[in-house]
Amino acid sequence: MTTPYRSTVTLSDGRELIYFDEEPESGRAAYPDTRQLPPPPPASQLRYDPLVDEWIAVAAHRQTRTFLPPLDACPLCPTNERFASEIPAPSYDVAVFENQFPSFSYREVPGGEITELTELVPVRPGHGRCEVVCFTSDHNSAFGKLSPSRVRTVVDALADRTAEMSALPGVAQVFPFENRGVEIGVTLHHPHGQIYAYPTVPPRTEAMLRAARKHAEKTGGRNLYADVLAAEQAAKVRVIAANEHWTAYVPAAARWPFEVHLAPHRRVADLPGLTDAERDAFGPLYLDMLRRFDGLFDKPMPYISAWHQAVVGEGRELGYLHLQLFSIRRAADKLKFLAGSESAMGAFVSDVVPEKAAQLLRDV
Ligand SMILES: [Zn+2]
Repeated sequence: MTTPYRSTVTLSDGRELIYFDEEPESGRAAYPDTRQLPPPPPASQLRYDPLVDEWIAVAAHRQTRTFLPPLDACPLCPTNERFASEIPAPSYDVAVFENQFPSFSYREVPGGEITELTELVPVRPGHGRCEVVCFTSDHNSAFGKLSPSRVRTVVDALADRTAEMSALPGVAQVFPFENRGVEIGVTLHHPHGQIYAYPTVPPRTEAMLRAARKHAEKTGGRNLYADVLAAEQAAKVRVIAANEHWTAYVPAAARWPFEVHLAPHRRVADLPGLTDAERDAFGPLYLDMLRRFDGLFDKPMPYISAWHQAVVGEGRELGYLHLQLFSIRRAADKLKFLAGSESAMGAFVSDVVPEKAAQLLRDV
């Protein structure tokens, strides 16, 4: 398997930075971090919400994180003579580093000795890891403008990070994602994604595991996602495009105005499980979806791109890797806000009929 060339440096506050290069011997690791950074903030605290059986991460230090800095102070651009960024080398292909303002880390937790706030509210340290993934050194680019070979390098980097972070103590699930657009809440314009290594199974994954278990019991062990994908391929009406290894379709009960799933035809648990051919085939189809998203209203579409991977522990055998890509834009000048029904009750009301969304995306 061709993998990118990997080199690691330690930033001045002890965080790890990893370069994934497309050419050997880039010499990037020779550039040290010359900044004098304060020690990273403590880890967050996880508080149990007994009313809904979910864990909430409390990370107050994130209030001070960098918010939409000017171009000449972008922390994700390569370092130059005027500004020392998070990336000491003068150029890079793909770079991954530990988030300076992480939601989860292995550092000391304030009040780490507390184990419960009330009898019903246990507390535990937010141990885990959060990384930032820079897709390109070009500040003004976008994921949708990357070459298929760069997308391949990104997929390889995410697979590398998934394998490594899955092995960290207590990690329950590794979640690579990209938020794009200020409408989504992006605080840095430079094209980048993130990876969260969660210490608990997130609520949506818990719900998906419950559904997958129920389906397996009902069908003598069949995989739910594999059956959903097969049904969509047979129905065709919501399929947007496909190639030898992947299919892109709008879910029948999509909850976002524009939502697409990209799924590999072969069931794999996570990104490290993809073959060379599957990794190569992902880029062209995903870039085509991003082009269609931007083409819907002839302007950059705000989106969230989310890799659903199998959990690390119990329930791993139920997982089926897929990418969920969705936007909150429902019309050229209208965004969907999560208001009363969605935010307070978790009950989604979709504004766009999924078959219509699929047709619009096919027509771009
Ligand atoms: Zn930048």
